[in-house]
Order: sequence, then C-alpha cells, then structure tokens
Amino acid sequence: MSEQSDNKIKNGQDGEQSPALNEATDVGWHFDNSYSRLPAAFYARKNPVPVRSPHIVVFNHALAASLGLNAEALTNDQGAAIFSGNVIPEGAEPLAQAYAGHQFGGFTMLGDGRAILLGEQLTPASERFDIQLKGAGKTPFSRGGDGRATLGPMLREYIISEAMHALGIPTTRSLAVVTIGEPVFRATVLPGAILTRVSTSHIRVGTFEYIASQNDPENGPENIQILADYTIRRHYSSLISVDNPYLAFLHAVIDRQASLVARWQMVGFIHGVMNTDNMAISGETIDYGPCAFMDAYDPATVFSSIDSRGRYAYGNQPHIAQWNLAKFAETLLPLLHIDRVQALAKAEEAIASFPTIFQRHWVAGMRAKLGLFTEEAEDITLIEALLKLMHEHHADYTNTFRALTLENLPNIPLFYEPAFADWRRRWQERLKHQSEPKEAALGLMRSCNPAIIPRNHHVEEALEAAVKRSDLTVMQSLLAALKAPFDDSPLHLKYRTPAVPSERAYQTFCGT
Ligand code: AMP
Ligand code: MG
Repeated sequence: MSEQSDNKIKNGQDGEQSPALNEATDVGWHFDNSYSRLPAAFYARKNPVPVRSPHIVVFNHALAASLGLNAEALTNDQGAAIFSGNVIPEGAEPLAQAYAGHQFGGFTMLGDGRAILLGEQLTPASERFDIQLKGAGKTPFSRGGDGRATLGPMLREYIISEAMHALGIPTTRSLAVVTIGEPVFRATVLPGAILTRVSTSHIRVGTFEYIASQNDPENGPENIQILADYTIRRHYSSLISVDNPYLAFLHAVIDRQASLVARWQMVGFIHGVMNTDNMAISGETIDYGPCAFMDAYDPATVFSSIDSRGRYAYGNQPHIAQWNLAKFAETLLPLLHIDRVQALAKAEEAIASFPTIFQRHWVAGMRAKLGLFTEEAEDITLIEALLKLMHEHHADYTNTFRALTLENLPNIPLFYEPAFADWRRRWQERLKHQSEPKEAALGLMRSCNPAIIPRNHHVEEALEAAVKRSDLTVMQSLLAALKAPFDDSPLHLKYRTPAVPSERAYQTFCGT
C-alpha cells in the first residue's frame, strides 16, 4: 500500500528537483509526522496526484500566521503549487488515513478517498496541526471515486468552518482553496478544487472502528491500544497517568462531544451527516458536507437531500452523538477491563451519562443566551417556553435571541403575541434575581447570541458568484462579516435578513 516518494520537493512524475527548494523551506514549514510512525495498518503512504494548473482562490492569512507560515510567500505560485499538491513541502510525509464508519447506521470501510495528510505542522506556540489536502486525487481508499473535489463545496467548507471558528465553536479550519485547472465530472462538469484543511488531528470515531474491526486476535487489541495511547497523548494528555486512562479517555471524549453538540444547538448549526467517520475524537466539528444553519426554530429541521428520514435533524443531534459514542465505546472494550462483562458495564455507564452531561452544557449555554449568570431550577421551564413560542410562530432562531438584547423589539410577528409579552415579563423578573446589573446581562447575551451566521441564501449567493462568474468579491465580503459575528456593525445588516419564502426550501448535498 505504500507509494513512497523519494522526492520531497517537487511532486512531478519525473522526480526532478524543483528550484522551489529554498523558498519552500523559508515559508515556515516545520513538519513532524507522528501519524506515519504508527503501525502501517493505520494508513497508506500516498502523494497527492499532481494537477494541471493550480490557482489560489482564497487564502487565510491570519490562520497562516498562527501556524508560523509566511503568508506573503504563499499567496503566489509557490502557494498554489503547495496547496494543490504539486510541490510537497520539505519534511512532509504524505499519507491517506485508514478509517471505517457507521453511515446512516450501517458499517462501512472508508478511509481518505480524496484527502492526503501532508503531515503535522508544529507552530511557534508548540502546537501540532494536521495539514490535509482535500480533493488531492485517488488513494488506495477511493473505492472507484475520482479522488477530486469541486470548487463550490470546497469554498462552502471554507466559509462555514471559518464562521464556526469565529463563533467560538471547536472546528477544523480552512487555510486555502485552489482550483486545479481540471474539470471534475459530477452531474455536470465542474471546476476541480482542493481545500487545505487544518485540524488538531483527523482521528475519528471511525478510525477506532477501523482498527477494532481488523479483528486480528494477535494484533487487534494491541493496535487499538496503540491508537488509544497515541490519541490520549495528542488530545487528552492530562489523562496519561490517571488510574484507568482508557475509561477516563472515554468519559473525556463523551464530555467534549456533549459540549460540542450543545454549542451547535446554541447557534442552530445542523451538521447534516453525523456518521461516525465524521466525528472527531478531538471534539472539533469536522466534514462540512450538507451542513447548514437553521432559520426559523424547528427541531425537525433537515437540509440534507439524502436525510429523508431526519436521522440527522437539528433536534436529533444530541441523540445521534450518543449513538456514535456508543460505537466508540465498543472499540475500547478490550482496554476498559480485562473482564468483558465488567468492561461492558463501564462502557454502558459512561454512555448512559451522556444525556445528563449534554443537558448540563445545553442549559449553561441557554442561560448565557438569556443573560443569566445564576442558576435556578425554573430556568429550564423559562428556556423551553421561549423555544416553544419560537417554534409555534416560526421565529428566526438567530434574530430572535439577538433581538432580546434590544430595548425596543423589532417587528417580528412573535413579538406581537401576548404569550410572548408574558414570557418577556417572566424573563425580566428572573433577571432581577441576580446581582449583576442589566448591562452585564445584555453584554453576556451579545457575546453569545450572534448577530450574523452564514445564512444559506448568502452562502449560495457567494458561491454562485465565485463559481459561475469568477467573482470572489461577494464571498470576500461575507467572509469579512463572519469574522466578527457578535458585533453590531452596519456592514452586517444585509447578512441579518432571513431567506424570503422562495429561498426557504433549501437543500444541501453531500460535498462532492
Ligand atoms: P465524505 O462524504 O466526504 O465524508 O466521504 C465519505 C467517504 O467517501 C470517504 O471515505 C471519502 O474519502 C470518500 N469519497 C468522497 N468523495 C470521494 C471522491 N470524489 N473520490 C474518492 N473518494 C471519495
Ligand atoms: Mg467524511
């Protein structure tokens, strides 16, 4: 499975050295490749497939700087060559990661079918980030796919992942999108593109499932322990020396996922394809395919064209997270206890704790959205009463919460309802139970109720301009606004309007 290239510099067919050697070194790459030191069963060494004519479409200067990269040196042809996979940065050891996953409930073997991990960039702050090229050509895991990605979905991932980051939600990041100068054949012919994705790692629940499924009585349990140890070192290092580190690891992953999904719920984010291969053990949001933000509050909201039964609907996300975590726990059974029955009991207990942990994160987040610093048992009733009113009156989720920070409520139908006036009185009474002044409560609310989110019709508008007319200005202005989602900037006003009725029947597709 290994196609090792001797040529770390230019990824040409002929292996000829590129004059870019010194420039590439000066860019600030500082790769380590800890994943490639794991057992060979975990990945396949594979270089990106060179592309015809790469051009940078969008580049994330701030992220580049935080990675210790010289942005100036990367926004030219050299950057295009690197982010297309034509030139492999010095020190990188490209590979495709093996993983499996439960997709819509069914188990499948997957793996990076169109992504190549270049390596792990060590930053000036001594952090470690995977640098991955998504759309970099076929790998041994491609299963007949072309290994490519198209411009629209890659820009969509760039916009939404960067918006999520600005909203303070753990997520993979987007460093660049390049077009490859080659057509990609889908339902129509589309421009091919590659996204450079940055992440604290790409270890998924599905990575654990893959290793566990190898089912080799000799190496199976050993490899799962190697993967667990590696992941604990990389993401949960404080657990290395605790009593039963694997059980503590399971609990810690459950807590991070509960916290993550609660944060999604806070902003109305619907992932759309919460398969176990799309759940990162680090607790970051990963794989922006058919995701979208909810407009009017409705727990049954689904955007994905393939999710006809609503498995991944907004209101179902916590339940699915728990389901996925149960799959994760199963892979750890051999490590939890030497006795299978006791291991199972520990795993079940951990998984059963999820609803309580999720509820704790959710209520804490909702309290903050309502400006509550203190805790009262009645708060949950207050929160649920508001959500029920929003649901009944089709109130926009984002704008309703943001409007609560205003003295004079805007013209939203919900606000004319007598039931809402009652609710508002109850809420304002509740605010008086805390010693913090009203200004502090409003400040708290403004810091967690975004004024703008990447609304579906604005994202589509930006993508259409970029893909169909090569006009990047629409996307650039959207990206600039999304950088400060909690500000009350006049520049943001146009992004606050919900979709008109004709735009509301929005459908998303798995990013291909
Ligand atoms: P995703 O829907 O992006 O999470 O991908 C699910 C699986 O399908 C992963 O193993 C991908 O690598 C693979 N895949 C998706 N699109 C392609 C493609 N165009 N070529 C090869 N593999 C793909
Ligand atoms: Mg995926």
